[in-house]
Amino acid sequence: MKYILLTSILFASLASFGQGNMDTVRIQPIKVTEQIYMLKGSGGNIGVLIGKEGTLMIDNQFAPLSNKINGAIKTLDPGEIRFAINTHVHGDHSGGNENFSKMGATLVAHDNVRERMMKETVNPQTNRTTPPRDKAAWPVVTFANKLNLHLNDEDVILHHFDKGHTNGDVIVQFKNANVVHTGDAFVRYGYPYIDLSNGGSVNGFINTLDKILLLLDDNTKLIPGHGELATKADVKKLRDGIADIRDQVAAALKKGKKVEDIAALGITDKYEAEWGKGFVKGKDFVMMVAGNLSGK
Ligand SMILES: [Zn+2]
Repeated sequence: MKYILLTSILFASLASFGQGNMDTVRIQPIKVTEQIYMLKGSGGNIGVLIGKEGTLMIDNQFAPLSNKINGAIKTLDPGEIRFAINTHVHGDHSGGNENFSKMGATLVAHDNVRERMMKETVNPQTNRTTPPRDKAAWPVVTFANKLNLHLNDEDVILHHFDKGHTNGDVIVQFKNANVVHTGDAFVRYGYPYIDLSNGGSVNGFINTLDKILLLLDDNTKLIPGHGELATKADVKKLRDGIADIRDQVAAALKKGKKVEDIAALGITDKYEAEWGKGFVKGKDFVMMVAGNLSGK
């Protein structure tokens, strides 16, 4: 519990740190294909599909950045932004929803994202209350498992595989371009953050990565929720590491180890060099997995 609390506080402070420094943020477009870009700024990576039939964007970072993001997109293509997809509910991915819907974009997300935005929620671990979002932020088109959009000669497939990072994760596949935006179902900041208070789960997280792997080949370009462009091999590595940690934690629980003692077993030691510099610490990750598997 203590470790889950710590992680939640770290996450909250990371999000607010990001929000306090928006004036200096530059929006940097990175070309993925002729029609698809990744935009970096502050918060989750944005994906953009441009073309004659209008623009589609995936995620929109924090509200104070909306004008800069819109400006950056318009330099790529002056066409209207028709669709704005949310990969999940977190504010570093959906903070600009109000602004982009007011500019005329149709907001698209998982059913659970709309539901979550419509009502006040209390995080049971931190007792922090999150008020409902302004109605302009609520997704207009929602779905449960799969939704197809067709524009600019691209088949855009929105997948929801399982309750992983949250209970409303969406993976966006550009079928013809062979590009996938994973949202925070796959990230490159080290140990992933699994938001149990928003319905996430470690087994669902691994299952989602397995399903993502089935969409990929060795040429697929991957836009992660955070970090640089990635490949199938990067996803496989994260999936195998998380599954290894999950299996070791499950074995320790089966032997009767207490959740509190499992963090001291050194389960994540071999991952520290690569993943230990992120905002989720190895011990916190183990405690979160143990808490989730034991139902605490
Ligand atoms: Zn997130």
